[in-house]
Amino acid sequence: MSKPTVAILGLGIMGSGMANRLLSADFPLAVYNRNREKCVPVASAGAFIADSPREAASRSRITLSMVADDAASRDVWLGEEGALNGAPAGSVLIESSTLSGGWIQELAAKAVERGCQFLDAPVTGTKPHAASGELVFLVGGSAEALDAARPVFSVLGRDVVHLGPVGSGSLMKLVNNFVCGVQAASFAEAVSMVDAGGLDRAKAVSILTGGAPGSGIVKRVAERIAANDFTPNFALRWMAKDLAYALRDASIKGISLQTAAAALAMFEQAIAEGHGDEDFSAVSKSSKRLPHL
Ligand code: NAP
Repeated sequence: MSKPTVAILGLGIMGSGMANRLLSADFPLAVYNRNREKCVPVASAGAFIADSPREAASRSRITLSMVADDAASRDVWLGEEGALNGAPAGSVLIESSTLSGGWIQELAAKAVERGCQFLDAPVTGTKPHAASGELVFLVGGSAEALDAARPVFSVLGRDVVHLGPVGSGSLMKLVNNFVCGVQAASFAEAVSMVDAGGLDRAKAVSILTGGAPGSGIVKRVAERIAANDFTPNFALRWMAKDLAYALRDASIKGISLQTAAAALAMFEQAIAEGHGDEDFSAVSKSSKRLPHL
């Protein structure tokens, strides 16, 4: 059976890796990125560069968006030149960015009005996983839409978890990232305490990473601090965005995420100090000194 044409909207860190994966698996591909320059490498590997999300979606049976935040998602899906305006009836529309539950529900309703199938399918994994097809898709939506999207997910990911109706994937992703954000922030504070107390940092970090606190995320932050390399795999400003969306979605459900609020304050301080475009592990670089000391 011939492969369906796929559109990828957003060729940032994640979207560009995903587009390259689809090209290497011989999917016909249309791409759209707000800054057109980022399309050039995938175009030389065979992708069609669309002038608008609408044009990309109009050529495709499956359209996947991988953009920054709710505002970016609105910009690529809505409006005269938005993907919804070009998507053929019956095509499958996938939102893989990490977004708020409210916007996902609104977008899903608009996709249904258009006669399309919709999945929210954010991912775990980061830059290298996007490039090597080892993402994990957290999916909300119908089993039928998921079946139609599976050939694409199986090239981009190592696993697909169907969590329930539309919104379930996004909710799971916000829960996942809120726990990651809190752990990263608490590890950053731990390193400050180690340094302020005059402990040997390498020894202290190896106790933490080799012991009970040594989660995958803590190990990743520890490696970045040791290497003093904050080149973004996942930008700090997007971790702050995920914490803010988690807090908002939890509060709509009557839940208070106190640890997420504390972590968000630390990420916001790091953004104010100019670290927003660095890797999220740069939360360790922001000042944690009490003002009166
Ligand atoms: P990124 O490298 O910063 O790329 C962001 C993308 O969004 C770019 O293509 C950018 O276009 C586009 N964009 C931003 N504002 C826009 C607007 N108003 N209109 C149209 N396009 C807009 O981010 P990323 O790391 O690929 O992350 C993409 C999404 O995946 C985010 O929701 C993030 O939270 C999520 N995510 C990231 C990771 C990770 O490890 N990086 C892992 C899992 C999930 P321009 O190039 O024109 O700026």
